[in-house]
Amino acid sequence: MAFDVAQIRSQFPILSRQVNGKPLVYLDSAASAQKPRAVIDAMVQAMETSYSNVHRGLHTLANETTEAYEQARKSVAALIGADIGEVVFTKGATEAINLVAAGLGASLQAGDEIVLTEMEHHANIVPWHFLRERKGIILRFVPVTDDGRLDLEQFRALLTPKVKVVALTHMSNVLGTVNPVAEIVRLAHEAGAVTLVDGCQAIVHQPVDVKALDADFYVFSGHKLYGPTGIGILYGKAARLAELPPYQGGGEMIGSVSLEAITYADPPHRFEAGTPPILEAIGLGAAIEWLNGVDRAAAAAHEAALYAHVTERLAGANWLRVLGEAPGKGAILSFTVEGAHAHDVAQILDRYGVAVRAGTHCAEPLMRRFGVTSSARASFALYNTHDEAEAFVDALTRTQAFFA
Ligand code: PMP
Repeated sequence: MAFDVAQIRSQFPILSRQVNGKPLVYLDSAASAQKPRAVIDAMVQAMETSYSNVHRGLHTLANETTEAYEQARKSVAALIGADIGEVVFTKGATEAINLVAAGLGASLQAGDEIVLTEMEHHANIVPWHFLRERKGIILRFVPVTDDGRLDLEQFRALLTPKVKVVALTHMSNVLGTVNPVAEIVRLAHEAGAVTLVDGCQAIVHQPVDVKALDADFYVFSGHKLYGPTGIGILYGKAARLAELPPYQGGGEMIGSVSLEAITYADPPHRFEAGTPPILEAIGLGAAIEWLNGVDRAAAAAHEAALYAHVTERLAGANWLRVLGEAPGKGAILSFTVEGAHAHDVAQILDRYGVAVRAGTHCAEPLMRRFGVTSSARASFALYNTHDEAEAFVDALTRTQAFFA
């Protein structure tokens, strides 16, 4: 059965708006996706009918809200094949990586090494730089090939006994490359390293089974997965979470507190200090339930077809440089237009109602690797249409004419 994109779109209220007198063509979902009615309604309904703080009350609303919050955790666990106790709510992927870096960092020594890749988002670089600055940890980076793949030979060469952590993205937010994460995790484990996978982009476009990947930690944000902002997920193997020191201190993460001593709650609550993002967790749960009703393989095929169509239409454009052409890549088109700054490209496209990202995409080392200071990025989601792909190509061709 064909993927019914009109039916999908009808569930996203924002997609029917106009921008600058033109129908909105939203091609910035890799930065943050739009929200289906199911997510909006779940959050409004929670506030209107059953809202309270979680975990601490004995009254009906507290119990109902706690139930909804924990139900969201179950939905996340089912989505990624985790046990419920292995799913920690954070405020985003960034916080999740900081939590792990700080926790692992506590037992690292000066001279220990951490292997990252040249295609990481700053969220998976900067927290590890903290350890370099503060503890003398050495950071190594797996190089990226010209077509946007990780150089696995170089990765193997970096895997010495000094390497304690390997952290990498499952799918690049700039190149669209999908990395062979299971193989990389296996090699890292053979070398005795702990592994963290940044799943921000991959979780949106492909099934993720954390047990099959065998990563020690897997993180992602809710807002790219059609859920709200302010909520992210840290998956950690139960044994890993159990040995990780707490990140923030406060209410809800303790066993008991006295003036002389504290004990901690078990994971995942040990890592959820203070009032958690309750409504956001409920919204993410609703997003996942909504996605469960979508034929995700068909959605992925639809996105791939849009990407293939756009690249075919632009194949002869000698003014266009595409960053990232790895086989099997996702529907993310990063590009530069000859003679034009990426910000100008994005602003002119906006006049045609087309929303794309421009800048470094929080990946300065990768920009440097490709010898550019910035790029524009069109990212395709399951709600984008063939007509929108055409509108983008048309608008980009007109935009280029300004700089020719
Ligand atoms: N990693 C990747 C690959 C991303 O695309 C992003 C978001 N651009 C992040 C990490 C950071 O996510 P957040 O800002 O939601 O914490």
